[in-house]
Amino acid sequence: MSKGQENASKQSEKDKNSTFLGPVATIVNDVDTGAWRVDVPVVDHASCIRCAICKKHCPLSIIKVDKENPVWIDMRFCKGCGICAQVCPKGCILMDSNIKEVENNA
Ligand code: SF4
Ligand code: SF4
Repeated sequence: MSKGQENASKQSEKDKNSTFLGPVATIVNDVDTGAWRVDVPVVDHASCIRCAICKKHCPLSIIKVDKENPVWIDMRFCKGCGICAQVCPKGCILMDSNIKEVENNA
């Protein structure tokens, strides 16, 4: 195996073991948002159909969706961009600008 093939193989192995992050996420995913977020996503769990579209579109990959649990957002890192609210087909994520502090159960 050539040096190039060896490096490609190592990179491929590394990719398999890591969580996929979007282009923005690679820069800011592990940066705690702190207090500067303006809008906070609030999920209406009763209307949610757990389609995971919000999860697929969040640039930070911080939304968890599964069949057993309600949608969960890791608010430590949420930047309040509102993409999740825009793409939700049920309109059950609202961006609230009146919430000053958020709880996070991570
Ligand atoms: S996109 Fe909306 S309906 Fe689908 S899982 Fe997310 S919050 Fe629920
Ligand atoms: S507002 Fe929604 S899409 Fe944007 S970072 Fe927060 S959870 Fe992700």
